[in-house]
Amino acid sequence: MIATVKGLKMLVMINLLMNKENDLYLVMLDFNGTLTKGSDPLNKNTISFLLEMVKDPRIIIAIVSSYPYGEIRGRLCQANKDLDPRKYGNFYICDENGGRILNQERGVSNILEEYPHLLEEAFELCNKIDSKLEEKYGSRPYQWEFKQFTVGLVITYRPLLGKEELKDEVKGIVDECTDDRWEVVLYGSGTIDIFRKEPAGKPWALDKLLQFHPEVRKVIVIGDGYNDLLLLEHAAKKGFTIGCPANAINEVKVLVGKYGGILATEKYGDGVVEILTKLLY
Ligand SMILES: [Mg+2]
Repeated sequence: MIATVKGLKMLVMINLLMNKENDLYLVMLDFNGTLTKGSDPLNKNTISFLLEMVKDPRIIIAIVSSYPYGEIRGRLCQANKDLDPRKYGNFYICDENGGRILNQERGVSNILEEYPHLLEEAFELCNKIDSKLEEKYGSRPYQWEFKQFTVGLVITYRPLLGKEELKDEVKGIVDECTDDRWEVVLYGSGTIDIFRKEPAGKPWALDKLLQFHPEVRKVIVIGDGYNDLLLLEHAAKKGFTIGCPANAINEVKVLVGKYGGILATEKYGDGVVEILTKLLY
């Protein structure tokens, strides 16, 4: 059943009046693949629910995404002008895959302030991989980009046209060049993502938000993809609640199941609403 926000206000009021739930919640949500499918706009149900949450004094909400702040804010404001994170002190955007935290009241925090070597190490790794590729193929059949990831937490290697069949070989070379600090993921398209594991952006964002808000008693983390695995595991190991929408990749579903989290029956934003309705209202 798709949860709706009808009557939620009433439930919140009843809970508050009965003094059942005064704990402060931190809710961390991935954006792409979790709140919405790809570049699709947020659906009405998701928009209404997010609006309820940002106006709820019991909740601190953080959107944790690989997208840059401008794009996340733009898509939220496009969905509803009242979903503007600039309007709320309890609304955080953690972009750069969690490596940067922006909030209207607290300003900007960046993982590079604590780990200034991250970017340099990412470039060193790219140089190493490029040298190996040139050694083997005489040129680079793959090109890398940080895209928006200016803090060096994720490097994406994409095959040049017609070179997709080299994906397994190239993955092998990337594996040889990387150590325990990195997680290498090969997608069906031939794209390879190299995630920084130690320190990783999204788990860092969770710890940072808890430092900002030591009064938080309950944390809920929902994600769908490879770049959510480290955050979901980090949260679960701290005893927090994790969940995923029905469209999540299998690895996420297995992790959520392993830690007794909530697997929604609905996909994307409807799945998020389903999980949060159970936990918050
Ligand atoms: Mg995602």
